[in-house]
Amino acid sequence: MTDDARTSAESATSGDLSGKVALVTGGTRGIGLATVRALAEAGATVVLTGRDEAKAKEAAASVQTGSVSGQALDVTDAKAVSTLVRGVAKEHGQLDIVVANAGILEDALLGMIREDLVERMMATNVGGTIHTVQAAARAMMRKKTGAIVVLASIVGEHGSAGQTAYAASKAAVGNVARSASKELGRYGIRVNGVAPGVIETAMTEHLGEEIIADRIEDTSLRRLGKPEEVAKAIRFLVSDEASFVTGQILGVDGGLVL
Ligand code: NAD
Repeated sequence: MTDDARTSAESATSGDLSGKVALVTGGTRGIGLATVRALAEAGATVVLTGRDEAKAKEAAASVQTGSVSGQALDVTDAKAVSTLVRGVAKEHGQLDIVVANAGILEDALLGMIREDLVERMMATNVGGTIHTVQAAARAMMRKKTGAIVVLASIVGEHGSAGQTAYAASKAAVGNVARSASKELGRYGIRVNGVAPGVIETAMTEHLGEEIIADRIEDTSLRRLGKPEEVAKAIRFLVSDEASFVTGQILGVDGGLVL
C-alpha cells in the first residue's frame, strides 16, 4: 500500500470529528458534559444546552478544548427545541451530530407513583427525546447526512424495582431510536442509542450504599461506570467509525445483569 493510500484508509476509519457541528442536550453535567468534552476533543464544534442559561454558559466555558458554547433549552418545550436546533444549524451552516441526553430520574415504588411523576418523566424523557430527534432530523435531511444518539438505559430493557415510570420512559426512548432510524435511513441519517448501566453522576447519587453494593456485585467488571466511558461510546456511534450502524442500542454497563 502506498503512503497516500494508507493515509486515506486511516482517515476514512478515524473517529475524527473535525469540521462537524454537534448539539448535546442536558450538557451541563454528568454524561452530557463528558460527551461535550469527548466530541470537542475529537474536533467537533459543540453547542451544549441546559435549562438554565448561566449554567449552560458556565459548563461550556469549563471545556478547555475546541469550540464549545452554551444555550438555554427546556426539552419539554417542543417549539423551543425546534427554534434552537434551527438556529444552531443556521448559525453554523450545518448540524451533523445531535445527542438527546437530557433526562430525569425519580424513583418510586409502584404504589407510590403519582400522576404528576408519570407526566414529568414522560414529558422530559420521552417527549424531550422525540422533540430533539424530530428537530435534528429536519435540520439534517437537506444535507442527507447526520448522526443522532439518544440516552436509553439498561433498566429500559430489563425493568427495575422502584423505577417503573423511569424504566417505561427509557424503554420508549430506545424505541424512538429504533423507529426513527427506520424513517431516516433513506436520508443518510443514523439514529442509535446507548443504554448505560449505573454511572457515577448526580443522577445516581441518591442510591443508598446497599443498592450500590448490590449493583456492583451484579456487574461483571465489579464497579460503577464513569460518564467518560459512556461519552466514548457516544463518540464512536456519531463518528464515521459507525458508518453502517443504525437502529442499535449499545449497552455501556460493565456487564450489569438486572
Ligand atoms: P444528570 O442528572 O447528571 O444530567 C441530566 C441532565 O439533563 C442535566 O444537565 C439536566 O439539567 C438535564 N435536564 C433534565 N431535564 C431537562 C429538561 N427538561 N430540559 C433540558 N435539560 C434537562 O444525569 P446523567 O446521569 O448525566 O444522565 C444523562 C442521561 O443518561 C439521562 O437521560 C439519563 O436518564 C441517562 N442515564 C443515566 C444513567 C446513570 O447511571 N447516570 C444510566 C442510564 C441512563
